[in-house]
Amino acid sequence: MLHDLSKAPVGPASHLIDGLSQAASDGGTMDVISPLNGTRLTTMARGTVEDAEAAIAAARAAFDDGRWSGLAPAARKKILLKWADLIEAKAQELAVLGVRDNGTEIAMALKAEPLSAAGTIRYFAEAIDKIYGEIAPTAPGTLGLVHKEPVGVVGAIVPWNFPLMIGAWKLGPALAAGCTVVLKPAETASLTLLEIAKLALDAGLPPGVLNVVTGEGAVVGATIAESNAVDALVFTGSGATGRRLLEASARSNFKRVYLELGGKSPNVVFADAPDLDEAAKVSAYGIFRNSGQVCVAGSRLLVERSIHDAFVEKLKQVAETMVVGDPLNPETSAGAINSEAQLEQNLRFVAEARAAGRQIVTGGERILQETGGYYMAPTIVAGVSPEDAIAQEEVFGPVLAVIPFDSEDEAVAIANGTDFGLAAAVWTADLSRAHRMVRRIKAGVVHVNTYGGADVTVPLGGVKQSGNGHDKSLHAFDKFFDLKTAWIKL
Ligand code: NAD
Repeated sequence: MLHDLSKAPVGPASHLIDGLSQAASDGGTMDVISPLNGTRLTTMARGTVEDAEAAIAAARAAFDDGRWSGLAPAARKKILLKWADLIEAKAQELAVLGVRDNGTEIAMALKAEPLSAAGTIRYFAEAIDKIYGEIAPTAPGTLGLVHKEPVGVVGAIVPWNFPLMIGAWKLGPALAAGCTVVLKPAETASLTLLEIAKLALDAGLPPGVLNVVTGEGAVVGATIAESNAVDALVFTGSGATGRRLLEASARSNFKRVYLELGGKSPNVVFADAPDLDEAAKVSAYGIFRNSGQVCVAGSRLLVERSIHDAFVEKLKQVAETMVVGDPLNPETSAGAINSEAQLEQNLRFVAEARAAGRQIVTGGERILQETGGYYMAPTIVAGVSPEDAIAQEEVFGPVLAVIPFDSEDEAVAIANGTDFGLAAAVWTADLSRAHRMVRRIKAGVVHVNTYGGADVTVPLGGVKQSGNGHDKSLHAFDKFFDLKTAWIKL
């Protein structure tokens, strides 16, 4: 089954605008290169400004005529639940297509992409007919009602590492709330989002409610960001793009902008961690799964000096037994790097660390070059100074920077010593210390004696330059509702 799907031809991809598959207005296409072997998988529409404007107009009309927001929440829920079922029914096909497009290992892609997306959409669909407005505790003779109204047209701009999972984090609450959406997938991971958008039509989502425009960020994304007809932007991606979106909002209609940006997440291992073997294994997967192309990746390892050498040795052993290669092989533990440009960036960081005299404990090289694909060995760099680029900037690859520490205070100072604040972890058997560290580390999520895996029931969002706003959990709805007061004299 997997084998058949992995060889199936993939047809050219078009936009989905107002319920119709549409080519670019000027007929332009761009190649979709598979990171598995560096060859062309298919082509997709290279969106123009006109395409983005057509999608925005369709979403605006669909919102303003109430074809979606005017439905009872229970009616929206029914359609969204059907959509989740259709995604789940096609999970294997979607996962394989996604892997061929973006390189994530299949075992992870299945869980983290279509199945996670279906689960997220279900979560928000199930919630929407259980959310109430408010009656204010005002004085006798007056009545204060607080209505929650859908914010309007949402521009959703998403990255390539987990297109369906992250896409669903935006689409689930936005659509459940009654908003309409123009979705801009990343250049190197558009195919599966287009597929699930078509499934939404099959589930009964009215045309124009969810529109997808593929192409370049600087053209399609920028047009969405500048548009006066878009009411809110939700974004996951790099800080550089996030800054442009805020500027575009300020230049246009002050649309609300919610950013989920990168991280340089500290994974802090104290000598009293309950099980150092387990800590090493989970920490290795915390950075090397999906080849480190994970926003919450634990890319800085802070280790108490007394166990430093022994712990790094354990990590090295785990890293060297990980199977890196063909992401369609279910045994693979880390697949391909998404693009050649990303691979080169990873290698540049390692070269710089090597030149500065840091110790490359394992990896550091491109591997499997004969496949034509983009693969990199899990890489551990020790002896890193907290100020090094490799400890300050997001590599977004399978590269772990190891820094020793001597005290809890020093660990906190190093952990908080970057511009980022997305995720973190603490390994300790001391319950009081665990709680202290959760309070002291500035991050959106702090794991204790584990790394990653937080599900849809808890919010994900960054502090500092990792962003604002939250995906997942009922708090995600806040981005998609406006509060309207009705003040009534009785
Ligand atoms: P990116 O910012 O280059 O691109 C993200 C999206 O923005 C893409 O769809 C792209 O086409 C679009 N875009 C690019 N330029 C644009 C512009 N001028 N105007 C409007 N849109 C534009 O990021 P990426 O390389 O796709 O993704 C990797 C980055 O995303 C990493 O930094 C990573 O940490 C971050 N990320 C964060 C999270 C999170 O939850 N915080 C999750 C995944 C990835």
